[in-house]
Amino acid sequence: MISSNGPMGNFDHPLARLDRVTLLSHALWSLAAEKLQLTDEQLIERMVELDEADGVRDQKVTVYPKQCSCGAMVSANPGWCMSCGERGDFSPFHSV
Ligand SMILES: [Zn+2]
Repeated sequence: MISSNGPMGNFDHPLARLDRVTLLSHALWSLAAEKLQLTDEQLIERMVELDEADGVRDQKVTVYPKQCSCGAMVSANPGWCMSCGERGDFSPFHSV
């Protein structure tokens, strides 16, 4: 694991975090596939569906800002309106 101890404290390198997220995703998928009898093809189909849901097939999910009831634009991160504080209507997956 790539990590560092510095004046800002302990932190993991982004690639190390990516490795852990990849491992977590793999573990979750292997459990789901085993318990729910899903196939890799079904997983790939769902990935394509989610990828294409934003209108562009580019192997990522792009979340566009939404207009708040106060008129300001709200992005998925932080997920709330910086003008009035109202929480945006974003999926939990979009605000990480
Ligand atoms: Zn607002």
